[in-house]
Amino acid sequence: MDIPSQHVFSALSDKGVTELHHANSVATACQFLRSKALMSRGTVERLGLTQTAQASDEADRRYSIWFDVFVDSVDIHARASRANAYGPVLFVFDLTLIDRNKTGRIWVTKENPTKWSGKSDEERWFRDKDELARDFVRGQFDQMIVLRHCGGSLPFGRHLKKIVLDDPKLKTDEGVDIYSMAVGALRLAMQDANIDVPIERRQCNANCRCEAYWESDDDRLFKMFDPKI
Ligand SMILES: [Zn+2]
Repeated sequence: MDIPSQHVFSALSDKGVTELHHANSVATACQFLRSKALMSRGTVERLGLTQTAQASDEADRRYSIWFDVFVDSVDIHARASRANAYGPVLFVFDLTLIDRNKTGRIWVTKENPTKWSGKSDEERWFRDKDELARDFVRGQFDQMIVLRHCGGSLPFGRHLKKIVLDDPKLKTDEGVDIYSMAVGALRLAMQDANIDVPIERRQCNANCRCEAYWESDDDRLFKMFDPKI
């Protein structure tokens, strides 16, 4: 069910997609910055690098997508007015990230892998550019772009435009502002890799539920924001 990257690029471009997004924890985001690449969960694990456990890990392993790299066509936090479950750090890339030979062929899900049980391959994946042209909907969260043939690692070079970071407006027990701590860690990782892109504090919609989400679970908060986990 793989589709040439050029076909995916033009189909998404026709639908008005100009950016690709990838959300993760602060610790994993720092690893990506230091490597100047997005890495699959399997690759990070194999390299013995730090990584934050995700609720989807079990489903990812079950469907052998553990070595794939996922990106979204929209900013889910902004769109859904809730925190992104994959993490508070959002990498924003221009669409040309996938308009290159290096990317190889790309797979696009019709459904989130957590809903794949009992589904056929045709129900899980888009088949070709015609089906994409007909049924891909910008902002449909289940339709994820999966880079399966980049060896579990996708160098992003100049395609990273910026990072958008959630501000939980909370402090650690020692009184350290959590947003500032995360910015510091991301800046340091960028410095090490010679990357210089803006980090924007996320501006939420008035009805956004993310603050309550971060406030309600300390374990989750630190798992996602602590640079050393
Ligand atoms: Zn929010």
